Amino acid sequence: MLRAVTKCLYINPVAGRRMMSHSSLAGKVAIVTASTDGIGLAAAQALGKRGAHVVVSSRKQANVDKAVSQLRSENIQVIGTSCNVGIEQDREKLISLTLEKCGGIDILVSNAAVNPFFGNILDSTDEVWTKIFDVNVKASFLLTKQVVPHMEKRGGGSVLFVSSVAGYQPMPGLGPYSVSKTALLGLTRALAPELAHSNIRVNCVAPGIIKTRFSSALWQSEDVTNEFMKQLCIKRLGVPEDIGGVVAFLCSDDAAYITGETITVTGGMNCRL
Ligand code: NAP
Repeated sequence: MLRAVTKCLYINPVAGRRMMSHSSLAGKVAIVTASTDGIGLAAAQALGKRGAHVVVSSRKQANVDKAVSQLRSENIQVIGTSCNVGIEQDREKLISLTLEKCGGIDILVSNAAVNPFFGNILDSTDEVWTKIFDVNVKASFLLTKQVVPHMEKRGGGSVLFVSSVAGYQPMPGLGPYSVSKTALLGLTRALAPELAHSNIRVNCVAPGIIKTRFSSALWQSEDVTNEFMKQLCIKRLGVPEDIGGVVAFLCSDDAAYITGETITVTGGMNCRL
């Protein structure tokens, strides 16, 4: 029986073609927010290397220009625009430019986040919570809502949120930010069943400590790094490329049967809700 199934897979031309094209993202259009540095840039790179036409963006045009030239020098099809995800007009501009220049949308990687506060959670203000939730959570939802009709026109798509290990275990001093990252785990699960009807998968990645500008306070001091290192099975901090490949996997057909999930990429940090 097993031999017959294996033989069928070998000689079946459709199965064969599917195997060959599995991880390819050729012909797909991918929007990645906050993609001029760190994890977003690595995600754009990983998607682009698999053949996707990527649209990069961040708040500062100079950063966008730099990222576009870097990715073009790596033979990645890319366009870019400035977009602060917390601003409605910027989100609309990002979507309309993508449609105009790339003809559709297949993938959204919502990666932007801010953290304007460090301290005891009870000292955080209304303004801090508004800013963190507007950028980290609401913008992720609103962008998803905006891209869904365009993904439906293409017969489906993939949405990917970037959460954090802090979403599982709030980090000391980073209360509101951590709670916003927990909210993304919930958003992933809330959206997945509704969007499955439209053949759109919704998943999430929760990075551990990744060496970027954003996390510099966590790795610039040797003492703090050593404390984190004790919690890791793999005794090094992550690099953005550790996340980029997982993002590309979740957005590809290799993950065709995965939706509503969060993959933690933490070097083996213990995390649970
Ligand atoms: P990063 O290297 O500092 O890069 C941040 C990027 O975000 C830059 O391209 C920046 O460019 C852009 N950006 C900042 N605010 C933005 C906004 N409002 N709208 C659009 N773009 C914006 O940061 P990162 O570490 O890669 O972080 C990326 C994501 O990973 C975040 O969601 C973060 O929460 C998550 N994460 C990071 C770690 C870590 O250890 N690094 C761990 C867990 C989760 P401009 O300045 O030009 O806007």
